[in-house]
Amino acid sequence: MILQENLSSNSNALIVSIPTNGSKEIQYMLRIYLEIFLGISYQISKNHQDQDTSLAIGDRELTIRNAFWRKATPEYSVKDIPQKVTKSSLQVGSKKHPSVCIYGNNQLAQQDKKWVLDNDILANGFFMLTRWEESINKVRDQHDRFPSSEALAVKENFLDRPIVNEYTELLWAILMEMGIKQARKKRTAHIVPTHDVDMPYYFKSTGHYFKKTAWHLSKMHFKEASTETKVFLSGQDPYDYHEKQMSDAEIMGVQASFFFMTGGSSKYDPAYQIGSKKITSLIAQIQNRGHHIGLHPSYDTYNNLQLFREEKQRLEETIGNKITTGRQHYLRFSIPETWRIWEESEMEWDSTLGYAGMAGFRCGVCYDFPVYDFQERKELNLIEQPLIMMEVSLKQYENLGVNDAIKKVEKLKSTVSQYNGSFVYLWHNSSYEREGWEGYNTVYERTLNSKFDSLSS
Ligand SMILES: [Zn+2]
Repeated sequence: MILQENLSSNSNALIVSIPTNGSKEIQYMLRIYLEIFLGISYQISKNHQDQDTSLAIGDRELTIRNAFWRKATPEYSVKDIPQKVTKSSLQVGSKKHPSVCIYGNNQLAQQDKKWVLDNDILANGFFMLTRWEESINKVRDQHDRFPSSEALAVKENFLDRPIVNEYTELLWAILMEMGIKQARKKRTAHIVPTHDVDMPYYFKSTGHYFKKTAWHLSKMHFKEASTETKVFLSGQDPYDYHEKQMSDAEIMGVQASFFFMTGGSSKYDPAYQIGSKKITSLIAQIQNRGHHIGLHPSYDTYNNLQLFREEKQRLEETIGNKITTGRQHYLRFSIPETWRIWEESEMEWDSTLGYAGMAGFRCGVCYDFPVYDFQERKELNLIEQPLIMMEVSLKQYENLGVNDAIKKVEKLKSTVSQYNGSFVYLWHNSSYEREGWEGYNTVYERTLNSKFDSLSS
C-alpha cells in the first residue's frame, strides 16, 4: 500500500480513496482484504469531501457506502451493536454471492462502469475481526468470558459462516468485473491440530494414585475408588494420548501444536510440574518428532501481564527456546486487554478465539490475521489464528450426540475448504475413550479424516 497524492497514471492500478472518518480503521480493513487476504497491491488517497470509500481501476469504480464511520475518531457504544442483520445474496456477473449485512442495506447496484455496494463490508469486517462487540457488551459468564449467546453472530445465526471471507470473495468478484489485471494470492485449505495440555497424565505418580484412592475411600466414594484402581492396574493411563496425537498429525502430513501450562493456582488450574522428568521427556519427544510447543497460560493470566510473563519465561527455561505461540486456558480472553498482554510479551500468534459455548467463526474468518486494537486505534504485530472447533464445545456445551457432532464438524470443514482456509481444531489428550466420552472417538476420527470438500475453482 502506498499513500500518495500524485496517483499512478497506470490505468491498471487499483486506486483507493478513503474518507476522513474512521480513516485508520478503513485502512486496516483495506489492508486485510486487499493486501493480506487477496495479496494485491493498491494505492491510497484521502478524500476529504466524500464519506464513502471508492476503489477505481481506470474509469471503472466501486463505491462502498459508509454506514458506520460517523466521526473522525470512532466511538463505540452498545447502541452501535445492531439487533438484527439482513441476509441475502448479491449478484456479480453470473454468480450470486451470499451476503450478511451488519451495517448498510445489503444491496449492490451497477450502472455502466460504476458499482455501488450498500453493505459496509469495511465496518462489518472490522466488527468481526477486532471483536469490539465483546468489549462494549459487558455480559460475562461464570468464567468472566464473553458468552457465545451474547454474540451478534449467534443471536442472528451466522456463527457457522466466515462472513469476512464471504466479503473478500464478493470484493474480488467485483474487482474482476472491473477488469483487475493482478492475480490473487494462492491458498490451500489445511488442517491445524492443536492440543492444550491441561492434564498430561491421569495419575502424576504411583503416590498420586494412592492419595486419590485413599481420599475417595475416606469419602465413601467406592465406585470412583474402584474405577481408579482398575485404571491404575491396567497400566494404561486414560489421558496418555500424546503419542496418538503426534502420529495422527504425521499421517496427515502436518505439524501439531502442544500448548503446555507452567503455573496457575486457581481451582481451575490442574498444576503439573513442567520441569518434572515425565513432562520434560514428553516435551523432548514432541520436539524430536518435529511438532510445535507453545504456552497454555493459566486461568488468571488473561488480565495479568506479570503472571503471563512468568509462565512464559518458565516454559522458555524448560525448553531452552523462545516461546511465541499458544492459547489461553479456558479460552478466557478480554478484548483488547489479552491481545495487548500477548503483544507486550513478544508473542507471535494466539489461537484462543473460538467460543467455548459453540464451535464456529468467532472472528468471522478462517484465515490468520493481524490483530487491531480498536481502543488504541492501531494494528499490532500479533497474529490471531482463530480456533474453529474445540471438542468440549460440541460435547459439553452444545450437547451434540456423536452423529450431530460429526455433521457439524464436516460442515465446518467443508466451509473452511471453500475459502482455502485453516481448520484449527482443539482436542484435549483427556478426551478419548474414557467415561463420558464413549463414541466420541468417531467424531475425532472424522475431524481428521473427512476430506476437505473443496468447492473453490
Ligand atoms: Zn486449558
